[in-house]
Amino acid sequence: MTILFTDLGSQYSQLKDLINARIQTVLNHGQYIMGPEVTELEEALAEFVGVKYAIGVNSGSAALQLALIALKIGPGDEIITTPFTFIATAEAIALVGAKPVFVDIDPHSYHLDPELIAPAISRHTRAIIPVSLYGQCADFDRINAVAQQYGLAVIEDGAQSFGARFNGNYSGALSLIGATSFFPSKPLGCYGDGGACFTNDDALASTLRMLRIHGQDTRYHHAIMGLNGRLDTLQAAILLAKLPTFKQDIVQRIKIAKRYSQLLGDRVRLPNRSNKAPSIYAQYTIEVDERDKVQARLAQLGIPTAVHYPIPLHLQPAFAHLQQDPGSLPYAERAARRVLSLPMHPFLDAATQDIITTAVLQAVSEGR
Ligand SMILES: *Cc1c(COP(=O)(O)O)cnc(C)c1O
Repeated sequence: MTILFTDLGSQYSQLKDLINARIQTVLNHGQYIMGPEVTELEEALAEFVGVKYAIGVNSGSAALQLALIALKIGPGDEIITTPFTFIATAEAIALVGAKPVFVDIDPHSYHLDPELIAPAISRHTRAIIPVSLYGQCADFDRINAVAQQYGLAVIEDGAQSFGARFNGNYSGALSLIGATSFFPSKPLGCYGDGGACFTNDDALASTLRMLRIHGQDTRYHHAIMGLNGRLDTLQAAILLAKLPTFKQDIVQRIKIAKRYSQLLGDRVRLPNRSNKAPSIYAQYTIEVDERDKVQARLAQLGIPTAVHYPIPLHLQPAFAHLQQDPGSLPYAERAARRVLSLPMHPFLDAATQDIITTAVLQAVSEGR
């Protein structure tokens, strides 16, 4: 039996008729670009998240970049963000010509430490991009409070947290602009690349809509400089088929995570828990000593795992020009050495989970 890290196949089998019918509808009408499914999805997403506007775009990376462009952020501007995330968060900042300013994480939540934001603010700072990592929202009460005090915009990188809530409000609705991804392995995934921006701001919403289609306001009239950032109709159709049962996926993920935590007990460091910001477990990520050894042993035992993420962004060659030394952001660096994500998807059954946890406990005790 092969143990899967994520299981998109089982989900497709379960929703096959719905997904196929949705795809067939698109093939029949043939409006592959900006077809009716895109608007239908945007309305459904806005309703789900609880915002006025959802704007479908072609990836989470594009969602972040478009959010920055919409806020007119560019050369000379500084954006405060976390180094413990996927490259796309800071890449978007650099691609618009602004400078990412990395501040360390809180070692418990792995999120950008709100305490460290104010000391990192300069007269060039324009915005903060917190990442709602592993399916758990960052502390938006504190982040928004600092942002308000200093007049900064907040863009949530919610690529891993669609469907998660903070104080009862959904990821995407927690700041000026929310950005998410529908990459296949994200909590809500399409069958290719996709993403969305969320906002309650009328002007930003209309700017984002123009930006994703070459800055166009009416056909072949380009009011502003934009890019090709559209969400494909086929991807929108697939998401429309998946959205109605998405909340059940979340319930399953939470149930599976709870069982993981029971089975692993106090033998490894478990994922951060918070009543204010309950995780939807995009990843179930533990912390262990000798992580690389544990991971190699698990691979031998047939257990696929992943490291999110092994190199903090301030130490990536792509950001070498920022000249941040190893040791400068110690909690992010420590987490990068210690975290390990276990198989997590709504179809993980108890028997398989038992095999995984037995192997993890074995690998951990061997590593000692
Ligand atoms: C996946 C991810 C992105 C990028 O999303 P894409 O759709 O792959 O472009 C950005 N930020 C984080 C934190 C992610 O996990």
